[in-house]
Formats: sequence, structure tokens, C-alpha cells
Amino acid sequence: MNMDLSIVIPVFNEEGNLDELVRRCLDVLRGMGLCFELILIDDGSSDQSARIVEEAAQSNPGEILGVFLNRNYGQHSAILAGFEASKGDIIITLDADLQNPPEEIPALVAAIKQGHDVVGSVRQNRQDTSFRKISSMLVNKGVQKATGVMMTDYGCMLRAYKRNIIEAILQCHERSTFIPVLANSFAKNTTEIPVKHSERKAGESKYSLLKLVSLQFDLLTCMTTFPLRLLSIIGGFVSMAGMGFGLFLIIMRLIFGAAWAADGVFTLFAILFIFTGAQFLALGLLGEYIGRIYNDVRARPRYFVEQTVGLDKPLEP
Ligand code: UDP
Ligand code: MG
Repeated sequence: MNMDLSIVIPVFNEEGNLDELVRRCLDVLRGMGLCFELILIDDGSSDQSARIVEEAAQSNPGEILGVFLNRNYGQHSAILAGFEASKGDIIITLDADLQNPPEEIPALVAAIKQGHDVVGSVRQNRQDTSFRKISSMLVNKGVQKATGVMMTDYGCMLRAYKRNIIEAILQCHERSTFIPVLANSFAKNTTEIPVKHSERKAGESKYSLLKLVSLQFDLLTCMTTFPLRLLSIIGGFVSMAGMGFGLFLIIMRLIFGAAWAADGVFTLFAILFIFTGAQFLALGLLGEYIGRIYNDVRARPRYFVEQTVGLDKPLEP
């Protein structure tokens, strides 16, 4: 039978949430009348999560699939492992901490069925600390600028994808990635729906400040190599400023004599500026090569064919 729907949930030390999560997900999914699979990926938990996932999978055969990673690889890698195991035509990701209510799944499925490739969600009255809200807002703005894909809330993992988007994501072999941004780079037709957001049911956020910063870098490098080019741009500006300063010094010295230029000290500054700028330019040039090496190494598909039309029957010889 064709699998209609796969739900992919990364789990890292979520023992206090898992029972309720599984119960609520199964209630919703069974009520939808679709052929579904609930994939729980244990991301190297050190508490009882792995055992709970295993038991849930055993007591709900044909409905729950447990995937166990040997150690902690991070949320996005765990989700990728779930994608690899998924078979559904529609794939939905959500968090295990019940911040994203499973009851929103039917709304996401409905939006995909309207013909969208990716359905994002916007958290209504988000239940997080204001530090998280503000940093999230800045990141969302940045991503919108860089990718040109207008989505308001990249941080919310309650998202739905069509099978072809997942296939494209699985063809990307980079180590550090940020799935919503990667997905949007393959999507043609995206939309967002408002969803409820609750406080974390049990346990603590798995993101320390350091992990959050590293996630932001993943997000940045996943989108663009522009920061490398920024070095050349800065270098160009500094060099030009140095030259302008030098020119200004020559003119002033001709008018007011050597004493005005502090006997050449200022000239040294101008020369220093020019060379600092040149160093930045050289770094930027290295950066350009590194950017290209990076793009080649991660070997993303060059293009992504959404569909072909015509000539579907083989030609008669
Ligand atoms: N998670 C994971 N591996 C990690 C960190 C988090 O699988 O290394 C999972 C976690 O169990 C949860 C989801 O990713 O299901 C989101 O994590 P969390 O709720 O801590 O993030 P926040 O809501 O604070 O952004
Ligand atoms: Mg959370």
C-alpha cells in the first residue's frame, strides 16, 4: 500500500514528553483516515527516551518506526535520518517537546493538498524567552533577504514537505545544514499557516547559547558564501580610503609644508591603510576560492527538475 504521510520527530532526552506525544500523535493520525507512519529518531539520548521509543514501536506495529542513532548528532541530522527512513508522499516534521501541537497536522496536510511544495508555520503567541524571540526575528529577516523566500518563521519546525522536496534534500551531502532553508531552495510554491505554540511540557531546551550560535552559523553557511566576499569588499574600501588619505596628505603638505604632516608620520598611516586593504583583498580572493571549493565539496544537485511534460511513452523503434 502507498504510504500517504510520514511524521518525523527528533528525540533527544525527552522522556517526560514521549508518552503524551505518541498518544496525541496517534489519536490525530488515526482520525485522518490516511496510511501513515510515525518516525521517532532517538538522537543519542542518555535518559529513558530510547527505551520508550522502542516500546512504543513494538506496541504499535505498522504505525511507529523507531530509528536509533549511536550518539547525539543534533536536531537537523536526526531529522535527515528520519527523512532517509520515510516513505510517505507528504512528510511532516515536528518537535518532541509538545511545543508544536500534533493537532495541527491535518491543517498542514490540507495545505499541501492545495498544491504547495512546502508548508511552513507561524507560531501564534510564541511561548519562548524574549531573547529567543528577538534573535529569531533578526535571523528570519536575514534569511528572507538572502534567499528571497518570504517566510516569517524559520525557527518553527512544524513543517510539511512534498516527497520530491525530501528527495532533493537527501541528495545534498553537506554535513551542517538547516533543513527549512535547504527545503525552500528547492521549493516553487510555498505557504505558511498560523499554528498554536505551547510551552515545553517537560525537560529543558536542548539549545545552549553556544549551540544556538553554531546553529546560526549552519544557517548562514547553508545559504550563502557572501561573508567570504565581504572580505574583498571591506578590503576595497579600506584601500581606497588609504589612497584618498594619501592624496589629501600630499596636497596639504604642498600647501602647508612638511611640519603640517608631522614629518611623514601621517604618510605612514596612509601607506598602512593601503596595505591593510590589500591584505583584506587577498583574503577575499582566497575566500572566493574557498567558497567555490565549499560549494563543490557539498555537491548539492546543480538543478532540480520538478517535472517533465510530454514524451512519457518510449518512442517506437
Ligand atoms: N533535538 C535533537 N537533538 C539535539 C537537540 C534537540 O534531536 O541535539 C530535538 C529535541 O528533542 C526536540 C527538538 O529537537 O524534539 C527541538 O529541541 P528543543 O525543543 O530543545 O529546541 P527549542 O524548542 O528550544 O528551539
Ligand atoms: Mg522546543
